[in-house]
Amino acid sequence: MTDQQDAPPEPSTRHGRARPPEHLSNRPGWDCSICGAEWPCATARKTLLKEFSVFRSTLIYYMATQMYDAFGDLVSAGQLAPDNLFERFVAWARFAPKDPDGPPSDRFPA
Ligand SMILES: [Zn+2]
Repeated sequence: MTDQQDAPPEPSTRHGRARPPEHLSNRPGWDCSICGAEWPCATARKTLLKEFSVFRSTLIYYMATQMYDAFGDLVSAGQLAPDNLFERFVAWARFAPKDPDGPPSDRFPA
């Protein structure tokens, strides 16, 4: 085996597929690290719905923990916590359509 064969694949080409950049939260401001929108941005929501498609309740639990982390970060930075944190972090996941590529929910559009 050569050194080249022992080297792990680059993260962006793992499994032979190029992976698009992930839309992650950028703490402590909680904007998207890629598009700059409030996190979870529309792309992050779609990705989360796909990743947790079988475990919607786990997604809601995960997003609730993210909401509490965001609340703590924003308040500790001296900002007033936005009054839409629940809708921004949790409610969209509860009412999102099962198919993230399908039509958006009319209750909490992306
Ligand atoms: Zn984004």
